[in-house]
Amino acid sequence: MPELSPHEAATVFFRNGAELIDLEPELIDVLATSDRELAVQVPIRLDDGSLLVARGYRVQHNNARGPYKGGIRYHPAADLDEVRALASLMTWKTAIVDVPFGGAKGGIEIDPTGMSAAELERTTRRFTSAIHHVLGVYQDIPAPDVNTNAQVMAWLMDEYSRAYGYSPGIVTGKPVELGGAPGREAATGRGLLAVLDAYATGASLELAKTRVVIQGFGNVGSNLAILLAAAGVSVVGVSDVDGGVYASDGLDIAALLALAKQRRPLHELPGAKPVDNATLLTLECDILVPAALGGVLTEANARDIAATVVLEAANHPTSPAADSILHERGVVVIPDVLANAGGVVGSYFEWAMNIQQFRWTEQRFNDELETRMRESYANVAALAKAKSVPLRRAAYAVGIERVAAAAKLRGYADA
Ligand code: GLU
Repeated sequence: MPELSPHEAATVFFRNGAELIDLEPELIDVLATSDRELAVQVPIRLDDGSLLVARGYRVQHNNARGPYKGGIRYHPAADLDEVRALASLMTWKTAIVDVPFGGAKGGIEIDPTGMSAAELERTTRRFTSAIHHVLGVYQDIPAPDVNTNAQVMAWLMDEYSRAYGYSPGIVTGKPVELGGAPGREAATGRGLLAVLDAYATGASLELAKTRVVIQGFGNVGSNLAILLAAAGVSVVGVSDVDGGVYASDGLDIAALLALAKQRRPLHELPGAKPVDNATLLTLECDILVPAALGGVLTEANARDIAATVVLEAANHPTSPAADSILHERGVVVIPDVLANAGGVVGSYFEWAMNIQQFRWTEQRFNDELETRMRESYANVAALAKAKSVPLRRAAYAVGIERVAAAAKLRGYADA
């Protein structure tokens, strides 16, 4: 079977979820398409004087439950099809964890590796000025995603504020000095651990006795590794874009973080075995965490996955064909739209604090995040059990049902 594009794959998962709740065909048609797709030119003056003309996108999938919400990524594969898929994932994600947002995503088709801070700043400001007319504190609120961070959000906020006046609530994942929330940076990792722990409790799995492999050591992968190590869970494999390392009795996460900070290769870790990214996914372990890009678990490698649990920290890491194979093999997949939703829950807290001009303590942020993630897991797991379906199908069903209910109440046609 040829591999599906990211949006084709997202549509397969959406239709499976919609079928479980017998969604009316016309709502399927409405929710299978985006509300608005903006494609813009992003001309970037590079430091050497040359001009790079990139493409940028903001796709707003649905806002029945609240303002559009979703990150912005800088990556060569962030084309319109992928951004469209990721925007729809945000709609289901925000509904599954019941935060009052819709779904959107942005992207610029560039490889930011090796770009200077000045080049990244020009890129961000130019992109912001091309899309700011569709953004708004109550309209569409971006956040960090692959290869973007708090500094990029600060530039975005500043550029938006130049046009509309001081607007901290226009982005989440900002630096704390600019109204960011203490706790937001680690929120996706913290949410992943809360969901994993809730799953483990239900499955009578003793987390402290498990071995975890994490593919990706960016914001999400590294924060999860820190939290797992602190909880006494053995992280036996970790990789970044350049490859990874393995140690059957557990890796020294603090030492790996120090290497990553110095931009040194992870395989310099003393006593660990170097492994390439493809092999890393098939390593002997209990829990596999894809925490980098989409489409890494495919029909070609799904039979070689040794883990019994896949915790999807990345967005769309598993193709529909791989998902079916894993299910047939009895591998439990905790899906992206539930597992990695801690990021957007944290964004909701940050946004709510911004509009109230009030700040929570980090402790309160973490406690409320954990409670909401555990409740969301319990809700999805209960439906999966009642209907005897995998967690992904149940999660989509929960999200789609909430969005459909809002769309019906508001009226989605015949204006
Ligand atoms: N980029 C993150 C995600 O994919 C966070 C989005 C947000 O907080 O708006 O869920």
